[in-house]
Amino acid sequence: MYRLLCAAAISLLTILPCHAEPALYLVVHEDADGRLALTYHSKVDLAAVPQTAASNDWDGHGNRLERRLAGRILKNGVIQYQSDFATSRWLRGEFHALADGGGSGIDAHYTKLNEYDYVLRIPASSGSLLQLDHPGNGFASASRLEIDLDHLPPMPTNRFADNTSIPLVQSGDPANRLDLLILAEGYTADQQGKFQQDAKNMIESFLALSPYKDYRNLINASGLFLISAQAGASKPACAETPNEPVINVNTALGAKFCTNGSRRLVAVDTSKAYAAAANVPNWDKLMVLVNDSEYGGSGGPVIVMTTNSSVVQLAQHEFGHSFTLLADEYSAPYPGYPSCSDATGSQQSCEANVTNNLTSLKWKGWLDNGTPVPSSVALSDPIAAGAWEGARYLSSGMYRQCYSGIMRSFSTPFFCHVDAEAFATRLYSAGWGAPSQGIKNIEPKTIQPSGTNVTAMTGDTINFKAVVVGPDTALSATWAVDGTVQKSETPANSGTVSFDYPATAGNHTVTLTVTDASPLLLTKKVSTQNWQISVSNYKSPNPTNKADSERLMDWAEHTYPQFFSPAGTTTQTIGGYQARYYSDTQTYLGILNGRVHIYGAPFGGLLDVGLVSDFMPLVGNAGY
Ligand SMILES: [Zn+2]
Repeated sequence: MYRLLCAAAISLLTILPCHAEPALYLVVHEDADGRLALTYHSKVDLAAVPQTAASNDWDGHGNRLERRLAGRILKNGVIQYQSDFATSRWLRGEFHALADGGGSGIDAHYTKLNEYDYVLRIPASSGSLLQLDHPGNGFASASRLEIDLDHLPPMPTNRFADNTSIPLVQSGDPANRLDLLILAEGYTADQQGKFQQDAKNMIESFLALSPYKDYRNLINASGLFLISAQAGASKPACAETPNEPVINVNTALGAKFCTNGSRRLVAVDTSKAYAAAANVPNWDKLMVLVNDSEYGGSGGPVIVMTTNSSVVQLAQHEFGHSFTLLADEYSAPYPGYPSCSDATGSQQSCEANVTNNLTSLKWKGWLDNGTPVPSSVALSDPIAAGAWEGARYLSSGMYRQCYSGIMRSFSTPFFCHVDAEAFATRLYSAGWGAPSQGIKNIEPKTIQPSGTNVTAMTGDTINFKAVVVGPDTALSATWAVDGTVQKSETPANSGTVSFDYPATAGNHTVTLTVTDASPLLLTKKVSTQNWQISVSNYKSPNPTNKADSERLMDWAEHTYPQFFSPAGTTTQTIGGYQARYYSDTQTYLGILNGRVHIYGAPFGGLLDVGLVSDFMPLVGNAGY
């Protein structure tokens, strides 16, 4: 058994049962000179460790939308963990054009930030020294930050302990969902009920728009109630609205109208928002709901919105930037905004919804027959794809896929086909949080058998199953053995698909394929799960007529008394395992989900030594 144990331990250490991941939640501020400082930390439990690294590089610090930090954790000088951490590099004020009298288009006020806040969520106990630096500096620049994780500076305890998480939309495990968190701002202690209602109204209105509506099953939303000393938001003297009264209120996140001189541009203290959000640490995108009915908000590191009902379009648009990574489709100039090109060999390709390349139009699959390129007039279907000149702050040389949608004007508040596909593709892609590799249609923690290698005897029937998630009425599943489909199903979201496989001798592969055939996707999304099946003709004897787990433990304690003594110990349930504790050797032998685990000093801790079924021929032949 010890030989088997060592062989198995090499590859099976990752199979250990896992529920919440203990993690450190840190907030780091970067000042205008690039210097870094820790502003908040706490211990949290995560469903999964998120990944927020920017996907490509623009100026050595991230992509056009995101700025990033490089981080690594060392223990005794050896790197244990590495990740980049991204934040927005822009504060965007984009509003209905009513104030300008036109009624269409977007009134845009872009600010490139020169100070940034980052949230770092890192596995606990991964090392002692956290090093942070700007990417490419090799953790050697003058502005790098080193944090001793074993001696973090004291923080005010229970800083947000009075605050309460409120479930708003619950679709499933945060480890396999896009998780939105809405923070309360400018609500006093007696206004929790109002916040709950305002947040519910806002998120339902936000999710009522396609494609958010179509993928609601893959989105969770919660509210976090933060208590402010006073209600509303501050309204300093503002040249745009000289006759409005000046209001100064004391609120949790310091929300303020008239940021950068623009009345409707409402911004909050990002560092405080990030720290408060540690109370609901599984969030992927943050929103702040400001308890003031005057129209206003902003996009950027967090989406800020007042309770004014028109502001939901601002949030839907800003989410198009900050999550889906779409470009603006209006042509009002933005001097200094980084250019893009889809020409062959370009290092900085354009966002999914705009292009300067009509020769090989990247969304041509969405064009109906007969749609001219370039396009000139509106099409009968307002969300149909074309290629209209004028987008991304340019009136010529840059084309948009939608004649007029929400990325061009708030008076036409809908996303077109190319936008919607970009959103779904993003959900299924890495880099926006947890799950770190994008959402899976096959819910990871529900897969059975949980291991990918399964052994069986001829005549056994093996039951395979999994829960599937995705848009309603778009899912299909097939089960194949060695590539030949045996069963097809059309499950609903959260439905269980299953397959009973009567094992035949030899080695086989069972494959579950789940397809998201949503009409929002030109290329259907396909997820697969494979199991390698080893089926033996030999059936081991069962002289004792006991359960396999009992036979195996009887066999182990008589065969390896040096590890498991005294023999004859009673089986108990310990931490979810069927287990026996051996007091002489101070070791445990346990079985969980069909796998054998051993624990104790002789094994250097907890080891997974393989499947019960792998041991049974040995056990049966030995007479147990
Ligand atoms: Zn925009």
